[in-house]
Amino acid sequence: MSLDAHRHKKQLGQHFLSSPGVVDKIIRAVAPKPGEFVVEIGPGGGALTFPLLRAHGELTVIEFDRDLIEPLAIEGSKHGRLTIVHRDVLQVDFGKLGHGHDVEGPLRLVGNLPYNISTPILFHVLEHAEAVRDMHFMLQKEVVDRMAAGPGNKVYGRLSVMLQAVCRVTPLFDVPPGAFTPPPKVDSAVVRLVPKPAAEIGLADPAMLDRVVASAFQQRRKTLRNALAGVCGPEVLEAAGIDPGARAEQVPVAAFVALANRLAAGT
Ligand code: SAM
Repeated sequence: MSLDAHRHKKQLGQHFLSSPGVVDKIIRAVAPKPGEFVVEIGPGGGALTFPLLRAHGELTVIEFDRDLIEPLAIEGSKHGRLTIVHRDVLQVDFGKLGHGHDVEGPLRLVGNLPYNISTPILFHVLEHAEAVRDMHFMLQKEVVDRMAAGPGNKVYGRLSVMLQAVCRVTPLFDVPPGAFTPPPKVDSAVVRLVPKPAAEIGLADPAMLDRVVASAFQQRRKTLRNALAGVCGPEVLEAAGIDPGARAEQVPVAAFVALANRLAAGT
């Protein structure tokens, strides 16, 4: 089957980019340099893949839809050196992803992600953050807003804290539904994520941070004294510099990290 004849699969989040202007903006934001290891998640019909290949000469893509693999390989060979990994991205070990012949260094990930599993993909990739230099992802705008929100913002929550603890999050630009075929029901946005070095993150136990943050935001109107009653006493909050009378949405990321580190250390 050709890429043109492909029927979009809703269950795989297949909204293919059909705006050359948006493709161009993404490629300019990534600005791949010779020798870098660029990996695209979900190449679909190649809207980003082929221009990226032409810009960079070499690309690895991860695609789950078997119907797309052969047509991608045939068309891709006309544009550059394309390596196709036919797998569920959630099963890919980014710490071991095979490097191509001439490429080296940490991964530069790019993708117009399937929106139904975008958050699981983000957290899966971040399990191997040390292998990743940066990510440029198209996501639902609402998700990007939550990822980038700071304390005091009504969409500041678990996703904001868990991501900002380990990455620098920079929203780049919004993309309307009309830039895709078929158009999604929601607005989209492109975001840049850059993993922080481990020393800068200073996080002893990511699972503890997740536990604290999940509990804190579960009932976001509650004071932390109450919301975290099952996790720690108010004296531990105070020792971490957090007012027990505050609500989760007022607490900066660094204070959550300090609290999780205290709990991980048993202090
Ligand atoms: N990059 C193309 C574009 O911009 O036109 C397609 C983007 S489309 C939003 C998402 C792509 O991710 C589809 O090609 C879909 O088949 C693929 N996909 C969905 N779930 C996947 C998974 N678990 N692992 C790998 N690829 C997946």
